[in-house]
Amino acid sequence: MHSVKVLVCCSVIFAGLILVTTRPAWAWGRDGHMMVNRLAQQNLPADVPAFLRNGNAQDVMQWMGPEPDRLRNRAEPELSGAEAPDHFIDMEWAIQVPETCSLPAPGCYAPGRMWPKQRYDFIRAIAAAQAKHPDIPMTPEKVGTLPWAVEESWEKLKSDLREYRKEAAANQDTSGVELAALYDAGWLGHFVAAGSQPLHATIQFNGWTGPNPNGYTTDHKIHSQFESVYVSTNIKAADVDPLVKAVQPVKIDDEWMQYWKYLDHSNGLVEKVYQLEKAGGFNGSGTGEAKSFTEERLAAGAIELRDLIYSAWVHSADPVEEYHGPQ
Ligand SMILES: [Zn+2]
Repeated sequence: MHSVKVLVCCSVIFAGLILVTTRPAWAWGRDGHMMVNRLAQQNLPADVPAFLRNGNAQDVMQWMGPEPDRLRNRAEPELSGAEAPDHFIDMEWAIQVPETCSLPAPGCYAPGRMWPKQRYDFIRAIAAAQAKHPDIPMTPEKVGTLPWAVEESWEKLKSDLREYRKEAAANQDTSGVELAALYDAGWLGHFVAAGSQPLHATIQFNGWTGPNPNGYTTDHKIHSQFESVYVSTNIKAADVDPLVKAVQPVKIDDEWMQYWKYLDHSNGLVEKVYQLEKAGGFNGSGTGEAKSFTEERLAAGAIELRDLIYSAWVHSADPVEEYHGPQ
């Protein structure tokens, strides 16, 4: 995050640039998303129910990987417009929005790093931050809402799995809830994977903007060249799978904080993507360094997704207060 201050002070210059730059439609390409979802599913621990680990689950999870991007279609402009911010977070803008905090306050993972967990509270916080930062485009459409898409999808999955436990314990037919859980796990996968693509966690999402002393590309090509063309041509699931297997599954108890840290890490790798591009790493068959980097990023997405699904399963057993409708 060393460059953030420089970037923000100069935001007047490139706020304008961003307005004329169209954000790419995808996060990872179709192949990358299918790979992350499938590798996460294949590496779920054995105590997760079989319906999430069998061959049918593999097919559904893989198909679901790119599903949220299929819906980003000009034929359905209202749906597309509503969901577009869920696919990214521009960390350089987002860090201008947080509530002030210091460690170890709950919800604060680093000094000044705390966001409201409720989506609409965040949207109100963005609007409030606009007054403090008139030179930054402070709207949900510009800042992005990826962490809220992940949190809400994760909660949906946890709720499905709680219902599954209940129906299974009562010896009821669980086919309906299994369908819902698979759909929601696959949907969650798309947004978790998006966070491992560094260009989905930055204002530098498709060509360098602002001061550029290292001469990084300013063409609006790097995004799809890296996440789609290069991945489809060069990256094999068989090479990524061992990287996922090398990391033992972990039960996450604070998925919100954990996901923000994962995003921060991705944001820290943005410049690396530009360095690799400058060195020709993503041209044709690319370089060994670019291949290792890309495999590591896809594996990071699969590990995060595997652990979030596993944690949704474990935490679906947590006791909950019965809800009796609005009082
Ligand atoms: Zn996407």
